[in-house]
Amino acid sequence: MDETRLLLCTDMDRTIIPNGLQPEHPQARKWFAEFCSQPQVTLVYVTGRHQKLVKEAIKNYHLPYPHYAITDVGTRIYRIVDQQWQPLQEWSDEIAKDWHGKNHQQLKQLFADIPELQLQESGKQNSHKLSYYVAQHVQHDDLLLMMKERLEAQKVEASLVWSMDEPKAIGLLDVLPRNATKLHAIHFLRQQLNYSLDDVLFAGDSGNDLHVLSSAIPSVLVANATRDIREMAQTQSQQHNTQPSLYLASGKNTPMNGNYTAGVLEGISYFLPAFRPLLTKMGAYCEE
Ligand SMILES: [Mg+2]
Repeated sequence: MDETRLLLCTDMDRTIIPNGLQPEHPQARKWFAEFCSQPQVTLVYVTGRHQKLVKEAIKNYHLPYPHYAITDVGTRIYRIVDQQWQPLQEWSDEIAKDWHGKNHQQLKQLFADIPELQLQESGKQNSHKLSYYVAQHVQHDDLLLMMKERLEAQKVEASLVWSMDEPKAIGLLDVLPRNATKLHAIHFLRQQLNYSLDDVLFAGDSGNDLHVLSSAIPSVLVANATRDIREMAQTQSQQHNTQPSLYLASGKNTPMNGNYTAGVLEGISYFLPAFRPLLTKMGAYCEE
């Protein structure tokens, strides 16, 4: 057991935070916290949230404090010691290369004349994340194309990430360095900390987790994910030939339902049999 170590990288909303429609097993979060308190486990939160919202979620949902946090959709990595958050400069330097020396202010200037773009609040911006609101009625395909052309003309390698805030009925648009993704950030941290792929587990539930779920990183899709995401994760891992590294939680070999943290624990028992005795002792794993 002492030989086994785990870099446990997990999404937050609807993966360990039970803020979806499906029920959470009453013991799941307690067992998850107990598991994460083991000295062999290094816990990493991987999320679109920014630092303040991660801290709020930890407090409001009684989540274990992580050792690292990959926040703002991959544009920041923090090392956390005694609840002090230290940004990993090496990661900022790494992703800065994509913008070819251009900074947040210069890219903002590049789009300053586009009336459809409304800057998000300052807490949602950082040196490598330029974020806008876009009204729902705007033809966002045309808008994105125009922005892409301007970025290319400046030799800036950026990704434009479009999503909808459904409850607020508003479009969200992030301009990010091309390599500032959850997947790249996890690989970067893994290499910095010298973990082999076999000693990493990722857990997620939704569209922005698909890159990692369909990669070579051992990954679990929690059972509360939608059917669409389940199908996309399977299709994409087939395309990448990485099916063995994707596991779909279902409640198998556990007294729980595979939703949220229950699914994360199920993924751990699936990929890392060395942890089964511990999970069994806690009550979170049962042999068929
Ligand atoms: Mg999520």
